[in-house]
Amino acid sequence: MNKENLLPQNDIHRRIIHLDMDAFYASVETRRHPEYKDKALVVGQDPRKNHGHGVVATCNYVARKYGVHSAMAGIQAVRLVPKDKLVFVPPDFKTYRSVSAQIHSFMHDITDRVESVALDEAYLDVTHNKLGEESTVKLALNLQKRIRTEVGLNSSFGVSYNKFLAKMGSEYAKPFGRTVILPSEAKQFLGIQKIEKFPGIGPKTQEQLHEMDVYTGADLQKVDVIVLLKKFKKMGYILAQHARGIDLSPVVTDSEVNRKSIGIERTYEPAIFSQDEALSKIRAYCDYLEKELKKRNFRASTIVLKIRNNDFETATKRRKLSKPSDDHLDFYEVARELFESTHGFLEDGIRLLGVTATDFKKENYQAINLFDY
Ligand SMILES: [Mg+2]
Repeated sequence: MNKENLLPQNDIHRRIIHLDMDAFYASVETRRHPEYKDKALVVGQDPRKNHGHGVVATCNYVARKYGVHSAMAGIQAVRLVPKDKLVFVPPDFKTYRSVSAQIHSFMHDITDRVESVALDEAYLDVTHNKLGEESTVKLALNLQKRIRTEVGLNSSFGVSYNKFLAKMGSEYAKPFGRTVILPSEAKQFLGIQKIEKFPGIGPKTQEQLHEMDVYTGADLQKVDVIVLLKKFKKMGYILAQHARGIDLSPVVTDSEVNRKSIGIERTYEPAIFSQDEALSKIRAYCDYLEKELKKRNFRASTIVLKIRNNDFETATKRRKLSKPSDDHLDFYEVARELFESTHGFLEDGIRLLGVTATDFKKENYQAINLFDY
């Protein structure tokens, strides 16, 4: 068997933009305080006025040149940057949120298929867009330009046929970056990337990959899928796909993420009197839920069973899963327990059965780090 068959078939027909604001909070603060333009600007409480406490939320590119970075103790920044160069400004999330909303409104002028990752970062699926524009690059350039002229902030973008490559692209040429990765270039582009640039690779995985002599995307491309699967489980499977420029995850719109639940229910005429038949329906519903959740990269934490008998008595029962899941077997286990805890319905005949998955967690690259222990 061809081992490449283990991997899903690539899809190169989508058109995805990853837009990432450059040093977003710090840039908003510089816009407000032009006098700090050449200073090392740190967003965070000033530890010198705060008994040494405070963490760097983010900082501008001048501060980065001195080695300051996000999540660093503020006092560390004080040590790294000359006194007359360093300014601290407290974070102002109200303003960041309103600037982000303005930028999002520009994106929605292009498409409603927008997935926000953070206030300063989003994916757009422009395969079909409101402007009927064929050129993804033109859309991205116009968006970047509009943010610069109307909001006064710089951003970087990556354009490609999937989210993973678009993100690698926007990271590649920061700040004010513009990177386009065509299907024919993906393998080569990935080949020259250091493996720590791949999303989801934490320090531990990085170390294990280095032990396997894997330092770049090209090295990773040479490793057998099965080897990666055995060594890194699910994470390895994702890595094998990424190395080959494969990422089928969809752009999940913000309104879909905010959806409260996904469910399916059916009425039966004649009513169901057989336990086996009822359970096989429930099993099929759980299969359906797995597919719908996987499409959206969701995991559900709670399963709800709805059941109605011939007398139109209805019961709705819910139970939490032991951990968030997108697996039909986990759903079925709980749905079956719920079914077995309903009494009298089967004897009276079941008119309606429904299973709903709810209480969603979105699986993203951060979540993949859970496998990276
Ligand atoms: Mg950013």
